[in-house]
Amino acid sequence: MTYDTLIRRACIVDGTGADTYVADIGIRGDRIVAIGDLAAGLASQVIEAEGRYLAPGFIDVHTHDDSCAIQQPEMLPKITQGVTTVIVGNCGISASPVNVTGEVPDPMNLLGEADAFFTTFGDFAQAVDAASPAVNVAALIGHTTLRAAAMDRFDRTATDSEITTMRESLRKALQAGAIGLSSGLAYTNARQSTSEEVKALVEVVGKEGGLYATHMRNEREALFEAMDEAFETAAHGKVALVISHLKCADVENWGKTEHAIEKLEQAAARQPCNCDCYPYAACSTTLDLWRVSEAFDILVTWSKPHPEMGRKLLKDIAAEWAVDLTEAARRLMPAGAIYHNMDEADVRRVLAHPLTMIGSDGLPSDPNPHPRLWGSFPRIIGHYCRDEGLFGLPEAIRKMTSMSAARFGLADRGVIREGAFADLTLFDFDSVRDGASFLEPTTPAIGIEWVMVNGRLSLVDGTVKARAGRLLRRPGSLANAGHEPHSVPAH
Ligand SMILES: [Zn+2]
Repeated sequence: MTYDTLIRRACIVDGTGADTYVADIGIRGDRIVAIGDLAAGLASQVIEAEGRYLAPGFIDVHTHDDSCAIQQPEMLPKITQGVTTVIVGNCGISASPVNVTGEVPDPMNLLGEADAFFTTFGDFAQAVDAASPAVNVAALIGHTTLRAAAMDRFDRTATDSEITTMRESLRKALQAGAIGLSSGLAYTNARQSTSEEVKALVEVVGKEGGLYATHMRNEREALFEAMDEAFETAAHGKVALVISHLKCADVENWGKTEHAIEKLEQAAARQPCNCDCYPYAACSTTLDLWRVSEAFDILVTWSKPHPEMGRKLLKDIAAEWAVDLTEAARRLMPAGAIYHNMDEADVRRVLAHPLTMIGSDGLPSDPNPHPRLWGSFPRIIGHYCRDEGLFGLPEAIRKMTSMSAARFGLADRGVIREGAFADLTLFDFDSVRDGASFLEPTTPAIGIEWVMVNGRLSLVDGTVKARAGRLLRRPGSLANAGHEPHSVPAH
């Protein structure tokens, strides 16, 4: 047999949670076509992989890479971690369908300036295709983005006619290939929406197909009520649910993950649901007054009026200005911050749970990003699996591949088997680790030897050699017919 690429003697972690095994892998075009002893096979490219682990390329289920995929298509923060697919449009904020002029509303400003946004999902899809990013992209549509397009102000629930407008533009986006709806109900600009407003949108997802991912209304004192709202909303539309970055923020809520996990398990017995989680005990988002607290360190990462205050602690800035924390935050906004407001025991409890997928929640537009942007996936393998023994390697990889592909409807991805897409990551188990830290947040990961996307060797020795990613349209969407790709444009 002849192949385009033959990978010899890799130790395969197939993504399903099954035990590892040693085999050769034959690839033709963008697919894995043979697995086994292929010693007699010929190939134009032969890669020796003895002693290293070969996994399905990692799927980052929680990203804000909407504009990064277009404006920085090498996608270095992701592909250097072994990530081959990103889900964009989380937390209620997506780059389409909305027309933004002037100041970008919070937290949509996490995606960039006005030129990061597109009037229709079709325009966004075209821009991704034209940019040809190094990793695959699948997109959720954000509730806050729909609000920004349909409403003149955010501090109220939507009227019936605004809901009709939002439903219609969501329907069009889903038909054009978006994979579901996200919300960010904790944010000031979505908080005034009722459950009914969100349910009316989730109904459309139920009809067209897709899932609902939510950054819940509350991750603090009212966490459990927020979870109930999420379960009810998803059940109303008969759609699968993903609870985004499940956590317990602020000291007085530490330990609540124990009951939160119980609630998730109970819900999973009656409806499809999962959560995602990033492997750090600090969160990061825009700076907002209600998040400000003296109980934990808050690191300012960017500030529009005071860019010179980036990488300084809010308390130091406040001292310098001789004002209290709230006043300092007010002067810095719009701004971004890292909040050290979680307990490591909670993080571990959520990470280790079998319903938990890994998502980085990285913020690529942030000049001083949280290290999760560059480090999440190698940190799961190096720190939590190898060094801490929180889970075995097959389970660690399952959380980053097959579970994610199944939940987000990414056909033939997230698994190593004949017929699957050749999205693959080869790593050295002994040395793999995250390089990024809170002090050095953009240092690439160590131990990722190469990454293949759609059959093309795309990252070798830390350098991007090809940009073979695609926009993954929802199977069954009207736009998918002409796109589910057989030929790959050359770059
Ligand atoms: Zn979020």
